[in-house]
Amino acid sequence: MPYKVMDPLWLLLLLPIAMVSGWVAARLDQRSRLQHKRQSFPQAYIEGLNFLLNEQPDKAIEVFIKALEVDPETVETHLAIGNLFRRRGEIERATRIHQNLIARPHLEKLQRYQALFELAQDYHKAGLLDRAENLFLEVVDAPLHGEAALNNLVDIYQQEKDWNKAIQTCKKLGRLTGDRTDYVIAQYYCEQADQAEAEQDYELAENLAHRALSVDKTCVRATMLLGKAALRSNDHLEAIKIWRKVESQDPHLLGEVVSLIAASFTAVGDESGLQMFLQSALNRHSDMTLMLALGEVIERKEGNKAAQQFVLDWLRSHPSAAGLERLIELRLAETGAHGQRDLEILKGIISGLIEQHVGYACSRCGFRAKSLHWQCPSCRRWATIKPFSANTEGQYAER
Ligand SMILES: [Zn+2]
Repeated sequence: MPYKVMDPLWLLLLLPIAMVSGWVAARLDQRSRLQHKRQSFPQAYIEGLNFLLNEQPDKAIEVFIKALEVDPETVETHLAIGNLFRRRGEIERATRIHQNLIARPHLEKLQRYQALFELAQDYHKAGLLDRAENLFLEVVDAPLHGEAALNNLVDIYQQEKDWNKAIQTCKKLGRLTGDRTDYVIAQYYCEQADQAEAEQDYELAENLAHRALSVDKTCVRATMLLGKAALRSNDHLEAIKIWRKVESQDPHLLGEVVSLIAASFTAVGDESGLQMFLQSALNRHSDMTLMLALGEVIERKEGNKAAQQFVLDWLRSHPSAAGLERLIELRLAETGAHGQRDLEILKGIISGLIEQHVGYACSRCGFRAKSLHWQCPSCRRWATIKPFSANTEGQYAER
């Protein structure tokens, strides 16, 4: 198979070039060194080049690396080749080159840190998380690599779900860079709370949710957990009080708790309280979920006609497929057999449209999801996924 123009294998030629330049330098400078180079260089060069031309790059690498002494002039070449292999996904080759560098006892301190950092990245990419962790820890306090090493460590601890270490590392990262990490740390506490809930340690889950809010008071996830805790104690009024805080934390996520709040109002038989809450929240936020919930209350209290009128009024100022679908549903519930088929066809078309345009999206990378994720599965940032519809596209601020 012929090599492509940008194939890093071609860049292996850098190694023989470095060999030759070293040889020339030695010839100019040191006669004694010349003797040694004269014997070993040309043969290794030709041998390596032959392997390369015969498309045996592994053997070529071995010959070149063996022949090319690691000294301050050639370390950069080794590093460049290793990185190219890693970027190409050829982790084994990258690892071999970086391991070879580290094995050299007389490497300068900074070069040694660089090689360790590169090897750590090889292991990380290969999924050898324990080895990667140990090496990143070795360079975490080294000049130049601190921030990148901490970022990699955070990623490793997240993959391992070692939330305690993730929290400590994230704090350190925040101190080093001055960047906001509080909302990420709050998510880690929520992960621990979820874990505690799964193990039915509800007291711990509640404590962890409080801890999340103590580092980030806008953490909606923690508020949702605390509301659930109140519900476990059958305290619906307390649950409502807690969930209502979501509005001031992040109004975009208010829709996530509307059905929970509605169910708790209904459980305590306070239909008027529910209507008041929905109406006042709707005055502040043109949120579809609030409108649909209020439409249901109006239908229960005042009947189908009043609900239709309410939805119709809303649609005049907020045209949307979801609102139209609700209106058709109400019409269908009212209409007899006559004309029903047309409405059902229309409802089918609109439901299909909604399917394509409603859901969740990451405000950073645009990833679309059917359900709410606290960590974006694509860019892996935390708390960036928000409800999305054709009407709300682009309105969310970046975190
Ligand atoms: Zn994303």
